Amino acid sequence: MLLDQFQRPLRNLRLSVTDRCNLRCSYCMPEQDYVWLPRQDILQFEEIEQLVDVFADLGVNKVRLTGGGPLLRRDLSVLVAALASRPRIADLAITTNGILLPQHARELKQAGLHRVTVSLDTLRPDRFRALTRSDELDRVLDGIAAAAPLFPQLKLDTVVIRGTNDDELVDLIEFGRRYNAEVRFIEYMDVGGATHWSMDRVVTRDQMIASLEPHYGPITPVVEASSAPADRYRLPDGTTFGIIASTTRPFCEDCDRSRLTADGVWYLCLYASRGTDLRAALRGGSSANELAEMIRSAWTARRDRGAEERLATRDRAPLISVDTLRRDPHLEMHTRGG
Ligand code: SAM
Ligand code: SF4
Ligand code: SF4
Repeated sequence: MLLDQFQRPLRNLRLSVTDRCNLRCSYCMPEQDYVWLPRQDILQFEEIEQLVDVFADLGVNKVRLTGGGPLLRRDLSVLVAALASRPRIADLAITTNGILLPQHARELKQAGLHRVTVSLDTLRPDRFRALTRSDELDRVLDGIAAAAPLFPQLKLDTVVIRGTNDDELVDLIEFGRRYNAEVRFIEYMDVGGATHWSMDRVVTRDQMIASLEPHYGPITPVVEASSAPADRYRLPDGTTFGIIASTTRPFCEDCDRSRLTADGVWYLCLYASRGTDLRAALRGGSSANELAEMIRSAWTARRDRGAEERLATRDRAPLISVDTLRRDPHLEMHTRGG
């Protein structure tokens, strides 16, 4: 097993298949315009498969397709089928805003996708419009309805922002219950892209629990050993939900995740400022062994604990300025894949 400097294994790969998106979520892409990755740099499916094989040789057994909007990538189910046919990839999932799920859920299932997570921040059309600059909430809800029977482990991810959607936690849990989907509340993070972030808009894990208990009664933690980012909780009636407390209770200690951007740059941490250009190596003719060596030497030297370092920062403000993001779109959350 390949271990980094803190004995964390390389196991989990978040694979962004596009930096384009059909929403403009206020916490991820709030600006008017964006610099996109050059089209010719975007990895072909065959290149992605080659890289995934190298990662699998080194221990990766979980792959999550993300973006941007992963379903905007043409013929995504062809890639899903190719990855699902690799027995070493024990867990193949996607994170999507759900808009294109109504038409793609069935083909993704047939292609062998294991799990789906849909991002859903609000159930109210006016808020959805304000949060995403889109009127497509109904399509997201249709997408959830289409995916739920096909993917029994459906998850719904909600970024909780003070004064925006923090009064909807109960409604979202109740909505998830209808589809047997586990809701996970994510603390608003000061990642690249979150140019409107401020600490006073973060609703902490403890505040979320305190706001749910008057409605549900005592909430108990689910005790489990896992490297998953969400802490899970149980309501008195047995319903579970998760909280991803990346901002106030980072979980870098167990982090086995790395990220590959759509143009093949590999990052060891969501907050890392530099990555390894695997596309250049691949297109430059590097062999699988040479690629494996690049990955091995980067992972074994890894000391990243980005969220913990941010927590220790005084006077926290947005991580990266708009000008810097324009100079290097790799720093954007929608390029990193979340
Ligand atoms: N577009 C897809 C989606 O929204 O599900 C996949 C990519 S998106 C970057 C992945 C995840 O990152 C989403 O669940 C999104 O809510 C989360 N995210 C983006 N910006 C965030 C922020 N500032 N704080 C916390 N989560 C964030
Ligand atoms: Fe929203 Fe995801 Fe698109 Fe970011 S990448 S704007 S979180 S849908
Ligand atoms: Fe992992 Fe970096 Fe996130 Fe910490 S901040 S959990 S090291 S990706």
